[in-house]
Amino acid sequence: MLEGVDLMSLEEYKGEQIVESELVGDSELVGESELIEGQLEEQPIIKKPKLIKEEVNRRLVHGIKKHNLEYDLLYNAEKAALNKDGDVLTFLFQRMFFYRLNEKLSAYQCDHSYRFTRQILTQMQLSRGKINDILEIFKKNGGVCDCEVLYNVESLVIG
Ligand SMILES: [Zn+2]
Repeated sequence: MLEGVDLMSLEEYKGEQIVESELVGDSELVGESELIEGQLEEQPIIKKPKLIKEEVNRRLVHGIKKHNLEYDLLYNAEKAALNKDGDVLTFLFQRMFFYRLNEKLSAYQCDHSYRFTRQILTQMQLSRGKINDILEIFKKNGGVCDCEVLYNVESLVIG
């Protein structure tokens, strides 16, 4: 009877090994971004301030998502889908635009211009044309200055 148990656990062990090697094989076939996203879902949310800061900058400037952030949980896909400009707003959320704007407005007052909005969009290395398109979208959605972009526009894709 003991022998039987041992044999079964050995079979299970072998089974796991096969599954593991199959996964490696599959992951070589899928695109890199898909692979990273799939792996990210199982990764914990990072908590260290230094790592969070690095992740925010990586996403903002390079558009590369390497770790999960608590902020990611705020995103509401159903809400975003209701807005005609949901794709652009989702892009800005994922690139940490609103997150950075919130940081700026926590430290400085809004001067009723797009001062920080422009600064951040430029840091994101977007073209002038793209920046102007985004500002039009903000205006249309009730964001005519930095603080209104944060309060009226970010709320269209979170919560
Ligand atoms: Zn304002």
